[in-house]
Amino acid sequence: MDSLWPKIEPLLLAVQKPARYIGGEQGARRPVHGEGRVAWLLLYPDAYEVGLPNQGLQILYEILNERPDALAERAYAPWTDMEAAMRAAGVPLFSLENHLPARAFDVVAFNVSAELVYTNLLNLLDLGEVPLHAAERTAADPLVVAGGHCAYNPEPLADFVDAFVLGDGEEVVGEVTDVLGPWLAEPAAVLDRRAVLCDLARIEGVYVPALYEPRYEGGRLVAVEPVVPDVPERIEKRTVADLADWPYPRHQLVPLTEVVHDRLNVEVFRGCTRGCRFCQAGMITRPVRERPADQVRQMVRDGLERSGYEEVALTSLSTADFSGIEDTVREIVEDPRHGERVSVSLPSLRVDAFTVGTAAQIQRVRRTGLTFAPEGGTWRMRRVINKLIREEDLYSAVDAAFGQGWRRVKLYFLIGLPTERDEDVLGIAELGRRCVEVGLRHQRSVTVVASVGGFVPKPHTPFQWFGQDTVGELHRKVALLREAARGVRGLTVRWHDPEASAAEGIASRGDRRVGAVIERVWRAGGTFQEWSEHFDLTRWQEALAAEGLSLEDVCHRERDADEVLPWDHISAGLHRDFLWDDWQQALAGAVVEDCRWTPCYDCGACTGFGLEHVVASPVPPAGGSQGTGQDLSAGDRVPVRLVTGTRP
Ligand code: SF4
Repeated sequence: MDSLWPKIEPLLLAVQKPARYIGGEQGARRPVHGEGRVAWLLLYPDAYEVGLPNQGLQILYEILNERPDALAERAYAPWTDMEAAMRAAGVPLFSLENHLPARAFDVVAFNVSAELVYTNLLNLLDLGEVPLHAAERTAADPLVVAGGHCAYNPEPLADFVDAFVLGDGEEVVGEVTDVLGPWLAEPAAVLDRRAVLCDLARIEGVYVPALYEPRYEGGRLVAVEPVVPDVPERIEKRTVADLADWPYPRHQLVPLTEVVHDRLNVEVFRGCTRGCRFCQAGMITRPVRERPADQVRQMVRDGLERSGYEEVALTSLSTADFSGIEDTVREIVEDPRHGERVSVSLPSLRVDAFTVGTAAQIQRVRRTGLTFAPEGGTWRMRRVINKLIREEDLYSAVDAAFGQGWRRVKLYFLIGLPTERDEDVLGIAELGRRCVEVGLRHQRSVTVVASVGGFVPKPHTPFQWFGQDTVGELHRKVALLREAARGVRGLTVRWHDPEASAAEGIASRGDRRVGAVIERVWRAGGTFQEWSEHFDLTRWQEALAAEGLSLEDVCHRERDADEVLPWDHISAGLHRDFLWDDWQQALAGAVVEDCRWTPCYDCGACTGFGLEHVVASPVPPAGGSQGTGQDLSAGDRVPVRLVTGTRP
């Protein structure tokens, strides 16, 4: 197919940020299409500046383009002005590399890492002239694939997606290519889409919803079952055993316009074993798999050299837990090849003074603000959610931050958590007030921002059975908190829209019937739902009512142990009884320690995947884990090394 560039270029004069649509970033490829190469269009269904830094998409982009039998290009959601111009000019969704229409690709693959982008996914299919519903597609249409954290409850998107990929994508994209290549080589007249979907469903980690049917009784889901033989009843996620085998991205894209996280990003490990009960990412990415420190340093060195960036972020769910983090960052900042100009950031700081000290050493360039995430306002609440940060740790971290020159500290909290009482909400204001007090010992004026989000209980977490707070209740709690914080100079309360939490709950907790709700919201004009200027809960409520569903039933109702959850046929590796027991422990206020330092709780994440993570010493570090509230300082921390192996 010919490039659409001659039609696209005239549109760029009249839209905001034309650089979103031109491609040409450093690191971008210009793959050559042709027979024998499976063409993937990798899509991030949000604006370019949000989607471009996505590491998952960049990793797959490189892996596919390195294969002789595949190629990959990218696309992001055109902003509303560009979409209007494209529709008026008859220009379909196009790729950034060769500016080819979406239909020129064999696979359109979405990265879905947030539920509020679901309507954008539908919009992109429509803009790409790909039939919206999987059931309407023929062998002449691209295969629609989705992966990312949201794939762990695929049912709300089941009507629109041909195949979901669960877990790490590095290996599975190659296996999907291996199935599609020979299939596409057959004469068009004999291509059987159903047959290739069956072949894909036999790849471990691939879920083809058309081959499974939900069953309801009395308005409740009672099963999601296969309707063809030889496909698994429960679909297991994929787990890459050794990150050392996948040192990607090697050529991180350097954009021509401003984007979020505009810096070199190097992933230091996957997985988290701290066991925060609200955290879906921590649960579904287990076990912990560290990248060898030598490889981290090499990737940083090469990446900085290639990209010209002066900031590198060492990314993971909890970077301060990376074995030998101190040595690794010291060697990066002291590397004479970088000189004085390079700054290292640890996006997920542990709440302790030692970590702040490390941050002070390495964050040379910009010292604008530090962020901590206590998540709960009282120790009781933090025990329930298993986020074991003691107040004294927080104050010593804040003390260290203000004492070392930071002027602004941001604290993340959730409200609407299980067992929450008003005193837990008021505890947020009290923590904020005390942090301001601590800061004023060092500086004449400081800013503490308490950022509050409404909790959405996510699939595959111990809180998956919990009934989400209503919009009215969240508003009441926000008002309570604002009132308590009023008059505290230096303390600012920010909150996320409780209405958006309700919509997120619908999309993340719904069953297959919610697909029609998402379609109605999209047809009513509801795109870019993550952007407050485009979000309106009324569309979601009207769509739910039109489908005979209610917010109460989908979001606010607590589930019991026997209820079939819409994602029960999907496995993130965690045993259901482990999650249920942990839920009961939460209600009892009992905590679980990080399993790197304790005997295994048999959550299933390691044993279920023929992997195990092993700490170098069975003896916990002096002072225990973070759960005791004590620092793991350089002197007393036992080196942690991940060893992967296969269980007999
Ligand atoms: S299987 Fe055991 S060691 Fe592995 S993540 Fe679960 S609790 Fe931790």
